[in-house]
Amino acid sequence: MDKLHTHNRKRSEQLYGEALEHIVGGVNSPSRSFKAVGGGAPVFMSRGQGAYFWDTDGNRYIDYLAAYGPIILGHAHPHVTEAICRAAQTGTLYGTPTELEIHFARMLKEAIPSLDKVRFVNSGTEAVMTTIRVARAFTGRSKIIKFAGCYHGHSDLVLVAAGSGPSTLGIPDSAGIPVSIAHEVITVPFNDPAALQEALNRWGSDVAAVMIEPIVGNFGMVMPQPGYLQELCAAARRNGSLVIYDEVITGFRFHYGAAQTFAGLAEQEAGEASKLYREIEPDLTALGKIIGGGLPIGAYGGRKEVMEQVAPLGPAYQAGTMAGNPASIAAGIACLEALREPGLYDRMDRMAARLAGGLGESAAHYGIPLTVNRIKGAFSTHFCQHPVTNYDEAQDTDGEQFARFFRLMLDRGICLAPSKYEAWFLTSAHTDQDIDLTLDAARDAFREMNEN
Ligand code: PMP
Repeated sequence: MDKLHTHNRKRSEQLYGEALEHIVGGVNSPSRSFKAVGGGAPVFMSRGQGAYFWDTDGNRYIDYLAAYGPIILGHAHPHVTEAICRAAQTGTLYGTPTELEIHFARMLKEAIPSLDKVRFVNSGTEAVMTTIRVARAFTGRSKIIKFAGCYHGHSDLVLVAAGSGPSTLGIPDSAGIPVSIAHEVITVPFNDPAALQEALNRWGSDVAAVMIEPIVGNFGMVMPQPGYLQELCAAARRNGSLVIYDEVITGFRFHYGAAQTFAGLAEQEAGEASKLYREIEPDLTALGKIIGGGLPIGAYGGRKEVMEQVAPLGPAYQAGTMAGNPASIAAGIACLEALREPGLYDRMDRMAARLAGGLGESAAHYGIPLTVNRIKGAFSTHFCQHPVTNYDEAQDTDGEQFARFFRLMLDRGICLAPSKYEAWFLTSAHTDQDIDLTLDAARDAFREMNEN
């Protein structure tokens, strides 16, 4: 078995210095900076293969970041790579429709039956942003309800934090968002049906849509409590509001489908699976990440009469020079084809169970409070004693302990996302030996945390 290493990352430090001169903050997405884990140079990666990537100093890491979700097959999966190469050789952009787009739309519809019609865009942000516009166009209403701690990309409307209670309007979470826009958003706590009902009572006839991550991936992996999504959908419908599921993370993450078609979820919420599916079917769904096979993509879709609001059929405008580009579509098709391999999701589930269980045992052995929220092949590690079922509970965890753990793991060749809120993602490329190495590293890290 490979030995655990302490890594020298001199070249990353050098590159970070250079990057700071030319790229704002040295990174092209703030979540890549190490700000939330004590600062300093992020690791500059230069190559990936399967479950590993290598930094510019030549250190190898077992990758649980999976690029924040998309790399579910591991890096440079041959089937996806071949599809991308083929697309590159035949022209990457035509500005015309292509046959592959139809094929891919069909694949998505087969996997997620609530998608009567889809539209491809270039990112999760774009997909979510457009679902809101379409919901507003369809209902003629302007406000949306979202849930505290759920992240839906960086468009104005969804970068809004909670006001002081479910009946208050939001405040901008970022500079540059007018208060008037934030006032179109109401933020309520996740897993709290009464708070949602209160908001609907207060703002009812103005609410175009209720937007949710049906299984949360952005403040740790958090399941909806049994019955919560059904109640949410029913309350929204009574109010004449649409339901939008942001499945940018959850799409194809737990099984070949989305959270809305996740049998485990339906079963957990008691019996009659097919009936439950229908009850929790959203009007609109946003997708991204995994469906691009590692290339930029987003997609949104849903009920036919709602989607028919979109130009050129309807009055809601949405367009894109790069939308449905042949390379992203080819990579997405190849990724989904590979995900159909029998047993693939079960393998990720089994490895994640062993890893999450082992982390819990090790932490307990060294007296470190740790709550692990696992859903199939994805889980989050919260340094706390209490369960994490909403954003308040996720915030009330020890960020310094996480930062410590993150760095100790990185020095031992295990790469996690540099934030206490992000998930660990298994890929189909991880092996049992990788899990063993990771558990060895974690044991060592917890021991060191316990000693000082
Ligand atoms: N929705 C969710 C649930 C996400 O997790 C993210 C990205 N982390 C987005 C939307 C935005 O996607 P993108 O980064 O592709 O714009």
